[in-house]
This record gives sequence, structure tokens and C-alpha cells, in this order.
Amino acid sequence: MSKLAIIDNVAMVRQRIAAAARRAGRRESDVRLIAVSKGVEPERIAAAVAAGVTDLGENRVQEATRKAPSVPAGAVWHLIGSLQTNKVKAAVQLFDWIHSVDRYPLALELSRRAGEMGRTVTALVQVNVSGEASKSGIAPVELADFLDAVSRLPHLQTVGLMTIAPLAADPEEARPHFRQLRRLLVAQQAVQRPQVHLHHLSMGMSGDLEVAIEEGATFVRVGTALFGPRA
Ligand SMILES: *Cc1c(COP(=O)(O)O)cnc(C)c1O
Repeated sequence: MSKLAIIDNVAMVRQRIAAAARRAGRRESDVRLIAVSKGVEPERIAAAVAAGVTDLGENRVQEATRKAPSVPAGAVWHLIGSLQTNKVKAAVQLFDWIHSVDRYPLALELSRRAGEMGRTVTALVQVNVSGEASKSGIAPVELADFLDAVSRLPHLQTVGLMTIAPLAADPEEARPHFRQLRRLLVAQQAVQRPQVHLHHLSMGMSGDLEVAIEEGATFVRVGTALFGPRA
């Protein structure tokens, strides 16, 4: 996909976000677009940044670390793929947000490494709302205990929940999953915990971002609709 096409796509996706926000009675500025640049080379990522994209999402630490020096400075980096414990140090060095905290040993290691670097990691808890065996994430019934546990980690700030809806041809099929993530967020917002301040819902991708915004998404993660189909 050419750089010009990417610039057009950014405008198109922004219009989709604006229209969905309007329908839902929300402000467009309350929904942040993460351009998912996995498999996309830096020149094409730069085209998206030139078109006004401020947030980049990557699934793999190594790929992101390789590409980052060639991407215009100033982008906010989001890790949206599963993170192995042995890559935590490199992840903390590059990523501003980690959307895929899905087990306690990972949360512990993130806090430990962040502490060593004199920083705090901003994290979202990945929740397996659909219960699919192939998906990682905390089970909804375990979320409260998990949040209690991470609230004791001094260098981790937990700011929201993330989910991946099952693949479906009809975006409406994602709605109940997004709605459940929102309900979980609201329920847990009522519980006061140190280090846990839940404001964000990371949900919705190229095919279902409208539904996600209607259900309260504050981050949508969009790859294909910006950069074209992946190889
Ligand atoms: C690849 C990916 C996306 C983007 O998916 P598209 O359908 O290409 O928009 C979003 N979230 C996660 C976790 C991904 O792995």
C-alpha cells in the first residue's frame, strides 16, 4: 500500500471514529487511535505519523525495537501482543503502555524492571471475555483478585482493561464482548485500590471499531484499515 493510500486511510479511519463517537454521544477526543504497525516497515509507519497518527501498536518486542529508531521520534508506543517474561526489560525500555498484562508473574516482573529503571509502567489488564481457549487473558471471575494483587506492585500503574473479540464476519457479534468488558470496568471502578485507576477500555479493531466506540472504547487498535492486509 502506497504512502498516499495510507494518508487517505488515516483520514477515513478518523471519520469512522468521529461518526461512531457522535452516534454514541461521546467526544471524538475521548477515543485514541492506535495504528497497529506489526509487519509494516518504518517508511510506511512514517506516512501514518505524517498524517497525524500519534500512537503506534506493536505485537512483538523485537520487531518494535528493531523498527523504532527508524520511526519519527515522539510517537507513543503500545505493546498489544503477548509478552514473554524474558522480554520485559526490552519492553519497558521501548513501550509507554502495555495492553497485554495477562498473568501475575508478568506484572511482577514489569514492576521490578520498571523500578530498576526508575520508572513506572502504565498497564492494561487483558481480559479473556469470550473465554476462547486460544486467547490469553484473565478470566472475568478472576479479575477482582488479579487487580488486588497488582495493586501491591509499586512500579505498575493499572489504568484499564483490554480485550480481543473473537473473529467474526459481523461486527455486531463483538458487541456483547465489548459490553461485558465495560461492565467489568465499571464494577471494578467502584473498588478503591492503590496503583489501580481504571479509566481505559482498549477494544475494537479495523472491522468492529464502531461497535467498540459505542460500547465505550477509549483506545481502538487499527491495523488493516490503515496499512492494508498483512502478508
Ligand atoms: C493485529 C491486531 C490488531 C489490529 O487488527 P486489524 O484487524 O488489522 O485492525 C488489534 N489488536 C491486536 C491485539 C492485534 O494483534
